[in-house]
Amino acid sequence: MKILVTGGAGFIGSAVVRHVINQTDDSVVNIDKLTYAGNVNSVATVADSNRYLFECADICDAAAMRVLFDKHQPDVVMHLAAESHVDRSIDGPAAFIETNIVGTYVLLETARQYWKDLPEERKAAFRFHHISTDEVYGDLHGTDDLFTETTPYAPSSPYSASKASSDHLVRAWQRTYGLPVIVTNCSNNYGPYHFPEKLIPLIILNALAGKPLPVYGKGNQIRDWLYVEDHACALYKVVTKGEVGETYNIGGHNEKQNIEVVHAICELMDELAPMHERGFPQNTKHSSLITHVTDRPGHDLRYAIDASKIDRELGWKPEETFETGLRKTVQWYLDNKTWWQAVLDGSYQLERLGQGV
Ligand code: NAD
Repeated sequence: MKILVTGGAGFIGSAVVRHVINQTDDSVVNIDKLTYAGNVNSVATVADSNRYLFECADICDAAAMRVLFDKHQPDVVMHLAAESHVDRSIDGPAAFIETNIVGTYVLLETARQYWKDLPEERKAAFRFHHISTDEVYGDLHGTDDLFTETTPYAPSSPYSASKASSDHLVRAWQRTYGLPVIVTNCSNNYGPYHFPEKLIPLIILNALAGKPLPVYGKGNQIRDWLYVEDHACALYKVVTKGEVGETYNIGGHNEKQNIEVVHAICELMDELAPMHERGFPQNTKHSSLITHVTDRPGHDLRYAIDASKIDRELGWKPEETFETGLRKTVQWYLDNKTWWQAVLDGSYQLERLGQGV
């Protein structure tokens, strides 16, 4: 099977690319524009495989998409390319509207034109898998409530509204044109190769540098945390075994307040990289760096996901608990300074030059 992955140089997309190359016999064509969030170093461990190809292109460019579909003849599409950072969507929503909504539309139209001319057998097997977020459901107020696949959409931020729009487009392309689509909505991912603007890597790297650990408001926002490699495994299961037209929620069964997450990282850092080894006074704890900052406008209080459908129907459950996944993540950042140093000093973007951008 040849899988066309969009956004495969991003955090989750690169985990999907590594999963497919390392765990299956399938091939990947990775289409990525290499925005600030795209990093070819995240797929370096599989880039030499003869089952992997990279194409630097913008999903909003209809002509380029048509050329790439014709050239590579994919069997399925896994669409992850997006603008994904909520804070950036508040500061500048335009790129979110463009990539997440217009880009998804362009990709749907390209896929539809390509799919309708496929021979019958390949046409029946084709899938357009759209990867989305649980943020489309808004936030939860009751402590026992969970998002299910039928929870009404109520997005709060420009980011989640743009993702909600793209989900609607994807479903409409199935209903109207018969394009075989599948949608997944997942909770907050964490793990290796996560861009340091997001909470967990930001806290790890600030802690390592002895800098303040910023926590929005009281830090009582609740998120469900999904280890990225568990997510990649779930996505592959969905694209190969999922039912056309279905939605699957993917979660980690790990609801935590942000402040609990920050404290858990501090404790792991105290154990794995004690501050006194970096010249701080004996017994200094990383938690002393925690600093509360003004909350984000429109900040959703609680997300929690019911991931029982994918377990029941496709036999997928996360393998990592929050404790095992977080330990692996902290250890990964401690062991992979070259990767994050290149992100912090901006040199990772020079890799783009080698990709012909
Ligand atoms: P990311 O920001 O790390 O990566 C996005 C990738 O898309 C980057 O490599 C970027 O270069 C690429 N890209 C952006 N605009 C593009 C364009 N116009 N054309 C081609 N490529 C483009 O994002 P992520 O965290 O890996 O998220 C992947 C998908 O999963 C997104 O659709 C996101 O909405 C969804 N999601 C993420 C999370 C999470 O916790 N990270 C949670 C739920 C859903």
